[in-house]
Amino acid sequence: MALTVVGSIAFDAVRTPFGERERMLGGSASHFALAASFFTDVRVVGPVGDDFGPEEIGVLESHGVSTTDIEHVEGGRTFFWRGHYDHDMNIAHTDDTQLNVFAEFVPKLCEENRNAEMLFLGNIQPDLQRQVREEADGARFVALDSMNLWIETAREPLLDVIGMIDCVLLNDAELRMLTDEPNLVVAAHEIMKHGPTIVVVKRGEYGAALFTGNDTFAMPALPIAEVRDPTGAGDSFAGGFLGFLDGLGAHSPSNGELRQAMVRGSAMASFNVEDFGTERVRRLERDEIDARVTAFKDLTHF
Ligand code: AMP
Repeated sequence: MALTVVGSIAFDAVRTPFGERERMLGGSASHFALAASFFTDVRVVGPVGDDFGPEEIGVLESHGVSTTDIEHVEGGRTFFWRGHYDHDMNIAHTDDTQLNVFAEFVPKLCEENRNAEMLFLGNIQPDLQRQVREEADGARFVALDSMNLWIETAREPLLDVIGMIDCVLLNDAELRMLTDEPNLVVAAHEIMKHGPTIVVVKRGEYGAALFTGNDTFAMPALPIAEVRDPTGAGDSFAGGFLGFLDGLGAHSPSNGELRQAMVRGSAMASFNVEDFGTERVRRLERDEIDARVTAFKDLTHF
């Protein structure tokens, strides 16, 4: 079992109707790795700058995440994202994106990362995702996430890398934007024509849907009374989803295994939104996850 992730490792500044933070650990790879670490061994690939110190590395390592391939770029600054949410917390408004060390990053994977059986190409420039996909030649199952910025500015490179992987995870607005197709069922099957056999559509507070060649599964999100900051929910979903599959050793997952993974993904996303950034997932205990899986069972049983 080994799960490697490449994606942004960031500092985030976030404002929601429930508070704000000027500088917190964020990025698609950080949220993903913390969530996945509850299910399997996770390894992060990506660059950071001088401002990324032992405290941030310590958050990842205290969850058993391997940081060997986190490259420290001397004189560089870590990726920075500033965003806010208004009352509809399904919509993130980006106020600033600074690629910083990611602008010049050339991934070099250590042997363990090249041989990892499962690979997650988290949200970052599609060309970087492709380079990592090509280098990780031991990967048996590869999944990808992206966002509106890359769909708008790097559509062709994104479609190229989608043609090299097994599973796409996008939110509903991104899927519509990428396929130019308003109907999510049609859009998911449109993506499959490019190569992936599995499409997961994240729908924020409305839950998530799974499409494979011969199965469709949909589930609600857990109704949570206290939602403070949705940043990272999509990546926490992906971390729970892929971490669970890797933990099972399911590198050609069955429909049943994928459905189980959807519940773990939804559980991790539901924790993520309860506090700012990684704050909730950092203090999460394993038995809380099990209780939440049971809560999903109760919620959907009839
Ligand atoms: P999500 O799970 O979709 O809420 O992703 C949240 C994370 O995405 C934040 O922690 C940001 O640091 C990161 N992020 C925002 N914009 C970008 C971007 N253009 N490329 C990579 N990561 C980003």
